[in-house]
Amino acid sequence: MCGIVGYIGDKNAYPIIINGLKRLEYRGYDSAGIAILDDTVKTYKCKGKVADLEKFVADKDISGNIGMGHTRWATHGEPNDENAHPQVSQNGYFTVIHNGIIENYSRLKKRLKDRGYKFVSETDTEVLANLIEYIYLKGKVTAEIAVRLALTKVIGAYGLVISCKDEKDKLIAARKGSPLVIGVGKGEYFLASDATPIVEYTNSVIYLNDDDVAILKKDELILKTVHNDRLTPKVQKVDLEIGEIDKNGFDHFMLKEIFEQPRAINDTFRGRISADNTLVHLGGLFNVIPQLLAAKRIIIIGCGTSWHAGLVGEYLFEDLARIPVEVEYASEFRYRNPIIHKEDVIIAISQSGETADTLAAIKLAKNAGATVLGICNVVGSSIPRYTDAGVYTHAGPEIGVASTKAFTAQVTVLTMMALVLAEKKNTISDKERKRLIKELVNIPKTIDKILKNSEEYKKIAELYKDSENFLYLGRGYFFPVALEGALKLKEISYIHAEGYPAAEMKHGPIALIDKNMPVVVIATKDGSYEKIVSNIQEVKARNGKVIALVTEGDTIIKNLADHVIEVPQNDAALAPLATVIPLQLLSYYIAVMRGCNVDQPRNLAKSVTVE
Ligand code: GLU
Repeated sequence: MCGIVGYIGDKNAYPIIINGLKRLEYRGYDSAGIAILDDTVKTYKCKGKVADLEKFVADKDISGNIGMGHTRWATHGEPNDENAHPQVSQNGYFTVIHNGIIENYSRLKKRLKDRGYKFVSETDTEVLANLIEYIYLKGKVTAEIAVRLALTKVIGAYGLVISCKDEKDKLIAARKGSPLVIGVGKGEYFLASDATPIVEYTNSVIYLNDDDVAILKKDELILKTVHNDRLTPKVQKVDLEIGEIDKNGFDHFMLKEIFEQPRAINDTFRGRISADNTLVHLGGLFNVIPQLLAAKRIIIIGCGTSWHAGLVGEYLFEDLARIPVEVEYASEFRYRNPIIHKEDVIIAISQSGETADTLAAIKLAKNAGATVLGICNVVGSSIPRYTDAGVYTHAGPEIGVASTKAFTAQVTVLTMMALVLAEKKNTISDKERKRLIKELVNIPKTIDKILKNSEEYKKIAELYKDSENFLYLGRGYFFPVALEGALKLKEISYIHAEGYPAAEMKHGPIALIDKNMPVVVIATKDGSYEKIVSNIQEVKARNGKVIALVTEGDTIIKNLADHVIEVPQNDAALAPLATVIPLQLLSYYIAVMRGCNVDQPRNLAKSVTVE
């Protein structure tokens, strides 16, 4: 959520910052702003996208070698010019960009108001800017001390870049809860919310930890804690190719990422499946296998699409490894006083590895003594650092806000985990395990085949693009797929859609069915086929329009449904990976036909780092 970029060195700061903001725009895009430090501090900001900011500054003075930029995802105050960042303190001493939420902002604001401060924005960030300034002027301390003292008074989450007009040779960065990465160049430093804006210039990075404060000059980096303890920066190499963060000729990142799934899943397998396809080996779990085998239950936590992947995980672990599983929304789990036993294993799923609620749930589970594992995509992100062990999905950067390849990669990891546990617990035969592994390894080819039918999905999209509602139905392993299909449609096309277990339809949603209601049914032969055929009959009896996903060659449903989408036959346990693909594409084409901004859907943002 929200993109932060900073630069200090000898180069022109503006192009680095503006290009960086474009790379980070998937994180937030309701307003944008920059500050360039020269003889003065020049601040430009406006409502809208980074492209609007570019137009806005076209005739302005943007020269300077130090600067910061922000693309906002509003939490406090509507998206407008005043609330855009940078926020400048009342007397112009401090310029601040912020990702996160200052939770005690109203109390701090009141105190500052009592001391004569006036506010021009509704943001929590301006409160912080003024608090720092107040401490700076009152205490006659350095900018760094003022920042650190202010941060000890703040409750909440932040990734911050700050400059002081009296100390224009430096930038101060700080982190708690919201990610911040420093790129280390020769005589220059870069700052960003993630490594994507940095890798064009350097692959040496330092990931800030919570409570870290970095004081950056062009040729000096001092790292300390908010309490003034010196730290030794740990420089790491990022393994990210610039091509991975471009659209590579596709119209949208989302489309590129949908089409990347065969490659992404192969990368998820890489080095983890034996050459003869008989064993799965997950190095990241090596140390926690005893806990996993002893676990009386597994609790999977996630948000949004990751929660849907978790539901597939529930079916997989119970079906293959016979371990009871509960799947929880992180935001509910953390606040409802859950019962957690030391023998529980928690699996936290998050593409970004930064999801605020998931991180908080992890901390809760760790405090209760449970073993906590992570399934994340972004290497070096917070969740892998807080968990006891875990498995990276290695799907490559996901820029499209609506998650696609991260979902299939997460399900792939969960499938591999279930197979490892099934082998160790002897809950399925060797023959069965080998058959499943062989089929799993074949999934990228199956997806390739499905992707080739995109013209068919376009035709269906054309017919239903003006619908106001959609229902998605599935049973067993396909229930989470139905939920994910509905979520994709909602996210990018703004059509109301609901996913439902097909048999539950009778208990409510059936009332909605009429000739205007498209119902997408996942009805492949690998699930409870006869039952789902009956559910289709029930929809047709009420004149609903059925779009059915069927197994290649199916004739029964072809005669019943209005449209069929054929997919190759798979074992039910592996079929979510294949059946979700046509649903992703259907949503994509509908959204494009409705003229929606697919990569930056309204109100959403990637990497939800606020609660
Ligand atoms: N809470 C701040 C605001 O609403 C920062 C939001 C963000 O992370 O973009 O301005």
